[in-house]
Amino acid sequence: MHKTSKISGFYKLSPEKRLKIVRELAGLSKEEAELLRKTGALELKQANRMIENVIGTTELPLGIATNFLINNRDYLIPMAIEEPSVVAAASNAAKMARPGGGFRTESTPPIMVGQIQLVDVKNPVEAREKILKAKKRILAKANEQDPILVKLGGGAKDIEVRVLTTHLGPMIIIHLLIDVRDAMGANVVNTMCEAVAPLIEELTGGRVFLRIVSNLAAYRLARAKAVFTKEALGGEEVVEGILQAYAFAAADSYRCATHNKGVMNGVIAVALATANDTRALEAGAHAYAAKSGAYKPLTHWERTVEGDLSGWIELPVAVGTIGGATAVHPVAKVCRKILGVQSACELGEVMAAVGLAQNLAAMRALVSEGIQRGHLKLHARNIAVTAGATGELIDIVARRMIEEGKVSYDGAIAILKELEKKGSRS
Ligand code: NAD
Repeated sequence: MHKTSKISGFYKLSPEKRLKIVRELAGLSKEEAELLRKTGALELKQANRMIENVIGTTELPLGIATNFLINNRDYLIPMAIEEPSVVAAASNAAKMARPGGGFRTESTPPIMVGQIQLVDVKNPVEAREKILKAKKRILAKANEQDPILVKLGGGAKDIEVRVLTTHLGPMIIIHLLIDVRDAMGANVVNTMCEAVAPLIEELTGGRVFLRIVSNLAAYRLARAKAVFTKEALGGEEVVEGILQAYAFAAADSYRCATHNKGVMNGVIAVALATANDTRALEAGAHAYAAKSGAYKPLTHWERTVEGDLSGWIELPVAVGTIGGATAVHPVAKVCRKILGVQSACELGEVMAAVGLAQNLAAMRALVSEGIQRGHLKLHARNIAVTAGATGELIDIVARRMIEEGKVSYDGAIAILKELEKKGSRS
């Protein structure tokens, strides 16, 4: 078959037929195709309703982080992630937070921002006044779109109007501030923005282009704080090292990106386990980290008068316990039950606590044993598998590489060859 990616009507086919085409085009073996077809808890039928052009499902390891004491309540934290050490690090940091009373969290109301872009306005200042004066009408029009949300105490609550200078001239940007309750909110927000757009045009004589949620959920914040005693951390030197690491991140974007990546290791793993929109969280977190104009750490660390380490985090958390895929994905539903969260705000606070724990664990590892030692065992096993080890050989090869102080693909192949030779001789 001639290889092309232009496949007419692909979207109309069943997942089985699509897979057959992909199998032929990509030269997949029967076994490889079978791997894609084989589904876990998320059935093909369900997956096919979630996104387009489905041919299968994929899986990630799901682990449980232990030891989390948040607002005096114990939580088991489901985390879906492919990276070794993250779940262990979170559990370890949560254990170290317990002598200091665990994590304290809080959050703002779940307010999302919807943006409406208005152009071709003759007098932007006058138009801004007109929009502000019509606030009640605009909010009423928005709220007509979602009576359920309004009944639950949510809905459009306020507006902001900014005049933006762009290289194409001035634009008026209207923000609809919408309380989305337990939803992530993107659909709700988009629907409301679209509904009020004609009214905005009518009021101003301008033209509306974009009407969409902003992923910089700067009004929807979760905060967590914890004190880690110097004894729990391993001594004053570790506290000093962590403060030095934090100062480095606060002063340098290269380091800060990795610092915040560590935070997001935790946040995104919980988001994936609960089928939340990970891209929205990442975009929001990094944009928030740069809100001062410079890219800064999402966490903050200082020494207490007792010489312990106090940390806190603040980040936007556009997450839902209802809506989107959260109520569709069967594993996500079970994960929510394991977490026992009652609202989206509570879920966001848990994510903030996990992010703080993850950041602490990463910095502690970096300033004490170095990150690789903790990573090494699982990493060595992954390398052994990549090099072709199976069954018992995985652990044998991984152990040998660690003992020999060289964890690498070449090293694993060499050990495997040596073992093979020995095996064929005996
Ligand atoms: P949704 O529209 O599926 O569900 C929200 C609806 O559920 C509300 O409108 C409300 O009517 C109802 N509801 C019932 N009980 C509720 C409660 N307790 N709290 C709140 N609402 C309740 O979901 P959504 O959260 O509006 O949209 C999320 C999806 O949108 C995600 O899948 C996301 O990936 C996607 N999305 C994201 C973007 C973006 O981030 N830029 C853009 C478009 C779509």
